[in-house]
Amino acid sequence: MLDKILIANRGEIALRILRACRELDIKTVAVHSDADRDLKHVRLADESVCIGPASSLDSYLNVPAVISAAEVTDTVGIHPGYGFLSENADFAERVMESGFIFIGPKPETIRMMGDKVAAIKAMKAAGVPTVPGSDGPLDDNDERNIKLAREIGYPIIIKAAGGGGGRGMRVVHAEASLLNAISLTKAEAGAAFNNDVVYMEKFLGNPRHIEIQVLSDEHGNAIHLAERDCSMQRRHQKVIEEAPAPGISEEMRSEIGERCAQACRDIGYRGAGTFEFLYEDGEFYFIEMNTRVQVEHPVTEMITGVDIVKEQLRIASDLELAYKQEDIKVQGHAVECRINAENPENFMPSPGTISAYHAPGGPGVRVDSHIYNGYKVPPYYDSMIGKLICHGETRDVAIARMRGALSEVVIEGIKTNIPLHAELFRDAAFQAGGTNIHYLEKKLEERQKD
Ligand code: ADP
Repeated sequence: MLDKILIANRGEIALRILRACRELDIKTVAVHSDADRDLKHVRLADESVCIGPASSLDSYLNVPAVISAAEVTDTVGIHPGYGFLSENADFAERVMESGFIFIGPKPETIRMMGDKVAAIKAMKAAGVPTVPGSDGPLDDNDERNIKLAREIGYPIIIKAAGGGGGRGMRVVHAEASLLNAISLTKAEAGAAFNNDVVYMEKFLGNPRHIEIQVLSDEHGNAIHLAERDCSMQRRHQKVIEEAPAPGISEEMRSEIGERCAQACRDIGYRGAGTFEFLYEDGEFYFIEMNTRVQVEHPVTEMITGVDIVKEQLRIASDLELAYKQEDIKVQGHAVECRINAENPENFMPSPGTISAYHAPGGPGVRVDSHIYNGYKVPPYYDSMIGKLICHGETRDVAIARMRGALSEVVIEGIKTNIPLHAELFRDAAFQAGGTNIHYLEKKLEERQKD
């Protein structure tokens, strides 16, 4: 097992990684910005290094600073968490060239999945179902593009190969606007992502977002840990996640899950990863793969009993997966709320000092958060201050526990989105299960009208 790792992240995920290390007797190095000296994991880590000023460009995204911190502390491995440098292939390469173990996939895998055209091609070849589309970059042949769109059938969506975070795409409803949309998206993608490659896909009207968690080691073993439903989104940002996804049968789960696991074996995937799909009318359509641990990993941990971060550390230590596919059984249901420091009405960030904090508890309640009484939420980073996860034997029990937990938690001094979560956990359509990716936006629009 790795002897010592550097945690190249902050907040709740840095604490989550530190907890896994403590269980495995791995020593930890926390790196932090000037603004983050008081983070909980910085205080708990064996060593800590300040790597720069508050701005993440100068600290958490500063590759030479992170590598130097690893060098001076004699670290063996580097865990990137999510966000920041986690899906930066050049960083992974630098980590390896500097003699450290990158706790994640090989740089070439990260690079391939970062190029959506290449990712879709690889997944299609591996038998993963994809969205009907151009199966490659669009060229300048207008006639061919018009023909292609007719074959796929309108509406279609033009997407940037290098896009991310919900940017770089345009929906086209009729042929009259097709060519213009292609050149506009190309120009925007060139400017935003330094890559003007665009491709075409069928636009799905009312899909759900369902994703498959996988684990794959360097000894040819790959398993899936069932699916999560992350359809409750605002501006392409997930708000609530759950596992398993309502209405997905055991057969569908093993069919799509096994395809993902096989794709991992085919491409020599290493580590934890997520295959994201749109799901409509009983069909899965691959849209992208995330080559890192995800915010919503706890719901999967709660229903499978697998500690995903510990498995990442085992895989990086060149050990075999601790589980075989037949060991993985879905037990009950789990739901997760992302708690953000923001105004629940207008979603403006609400940084500041937490003047009172009481965590919820009881059976099936898990809190993944770095906040404490007196903690000052800095204004410089993502507004998520923690996650509340509830597990129960059934979905109804998990939801009832979440309602209880949401009413118990006290966070004073800043505004949070807890009132929005409380409202959603009483929402009839959410309670019934299976709402699509537009549901929350529509609900918020209606609320505005009232
Ligand atoms: P990003 O990397 O920017 O998140 P994705 O390819 O994951 O890009 O797409 C982001 C979101 O855009 C999806 O969750 C979905 O809401 C919407 N979207 C993308 N492709 C399609 C499609 N073919 N049909 C309908 N909606 C889509």
